[in-house]
Amino acid sequence: MHNNLMRKALSALALIGLTMNSGCDTPPPPSSSSSSASNAGESAAVATLEKKIRKFAPVDISANVAALPESEREAVTHLVRAAELFDKLFMIQSWAGDPALLAKLQADKSPEGQAELHLFMINKGPWSRIDHNEPFLRAPVPPKPPQANFYPADATKEEVEAWFKTLTGKAHDDATGFYSVIRRGPDGKLTAVPYSVEYRDILTQVGDELKKAAAATKQPTLKAFLEKRAAAFQSNDYFDSDMAWMELDASIEPTIGPYETYEDEWFGYKAAFEAFITLRDDVETKKLGIFGKELQGLENALPIDAKYRNPKLGALAPLTVVNVVFASGDGNRGVQTAAFNLPNDDRVVSQKGAKRVMLKNVQDAKFAKVLVPISGIALPAADRSKVSFDAFFTHILMHEVMHGLGPQQVGKTGEAVRKALKDTYGALEEAKADISGLWALQQLADKGVISPEIAKSMYTTFLASSFRTFRFGINEAHGKGMALQFNTLLDRGAFVVNPDGTFSVDDTKIKSAVADLTREIMTIQAEGNYAAAKALLTKMVVVRPEVQKVLDRLQDVPVDIEPRFTVVR
Ligand code: ZN
Repeated sequence: MHNNLMRKALSALALIGLTMNSGCDTPPPPSSSSSSASNAGESAAVATLEKKIRKFAPVDISANVAALPESEREAVTHLVRAAELFDKLFMIQSWAGDPALLAKLQADKSPEGQAELHLFMINKGPWSRIDHNEPFLRAPVPPKPPQANFYPADATKEEVEAWFKTLTGKAHDDATGFYSVIRRGPDGKLTAVPYSVEYRDILTQVGDELKKAAAATKQPTLKAFLEKRAAAFQSNDYFDSDMAWMELDASIEPTIGPYETYEDEWFGYKAAFEAFITLRDDVETKKLGIFGKELQGLENALPIDAKYRNPKLGALAPLTVVNVVFASGDGNRGVQTAAFNLPNDDRVVSQKGAKRVMLKNVQDAKFAKVLVPISGIALPAADRSKVSFDAFFTHILMHEVMHGLGPQQVGKTGEAVRKALKDTYGALEEAKADISGLWALQQLADKGVISPEIAKSMYTTFLASSFRTFRFGINEAHGKGMALQFNTLLDRGAFVVNPDGTFSVDDTKIKSAVADLTREIMTIQAEGNYAAAKALLTKMVVVRPEVQKVLDRLQDVPVDIEPRFTVVR
């Protein structure tokens, strides 16, 4: 989004896209009005910012839009225009101060101002998401609010939580649901405001573009989804459109709406807006179809108490491999999404299951630009050949599959695990998906469903990839989840530190350690044991000195990629 090649400036954000295409490799123009002393200060400031910008390796991201018929190319054009608006909307959701600050940075044409703007757009705000949300602007900003802009800035978590408890029935569901913000009424009392009201102007514009895309496309399931999603932006009821998204069978695969709840660090209740405009990769999608047949068998074999297994998983959930044309909002901030498992609405999941979408061109870029260089530093020379794209890709796939397996409701109460585990849910669920993903791949390798090459390389690939995740910071769900897994595997001798500071896998211990941790996490989820989840995360979510030593040696390796969407409109 921020680095896309825009032919015309449809919005303020499009202008930034053009500015940032000049990229970090281009030296800033000399500032004629500054004294030499302030020039020195400026260039030092720019150098510091550029170093942070270089943590994201710029990569062209594109898909074969040109191969689509005219009607579908036109639909893509409108979808990209709709998606562009989500950058702004996501920033509004993230922090109330973002729009004004963005306008100020856009007006600042100095090299520092431009570098700050570039980094601001990578992070979608003035805090570095991979540096524990450290502010990076010259001008001071408050700490990143954990409640984002979903709750009143002057409210406390305790106040909001106490208010939730006073509510019952629909009022409670609305207030703790995905699609409302909590505001104060004129009387100062808390009240839930639907997204359709809070974000009416932007959502109307987005809906208009979706309707145009719906009018253009000749693919019926795509048309149905787009019309229903446009209606949802008005009605605030996303159920029908989520169901239609599950039924999509089209060359264009758009995911556009309020989805993930990571930005709500108070409760994990509120959904942030994101868009992934993608094209389906039919060849790869077909290859992965084999996993669908294995799901119930995996669930039945989960290393947990039998009463916590689901004897009848929902209908076969689709598994789709796509290539990204354009992404925005929560789908393009800081570290890039490699895959997702949606929707999050339990009502849809219980009726239709969830769809797992793999972003293949994004994963290709991450593997080449980040994982290969990391393995050259974090692993001993003899282990580096065990890092493979197939293992990387298949594990990410299995991570998404496993989000749909294991306990989804608390055994005794039937309450959603998400609600019961509150702020610990995200980290635990991400750790579960990773570790049980390894467990599942081992099961499938033992059965001969996947190639022995993947099984041989997956633990070492996972180890190298752990360092990739650590570098995202342990202040968000995926990083926390990784720290929990990594430190546990280290304590159980499944990961070992070599005398030269590199890390290896102990083949005699890894399998049982992976199964044990899968059991521990899933049992906490099945029991809705918030205290146990909190205690586990408090103990394990740390960066230990031996890990830090490797991280220090990775200084010059990019942390992730900065996509440059090359769709030409
Ligand atoms: Zn996940």
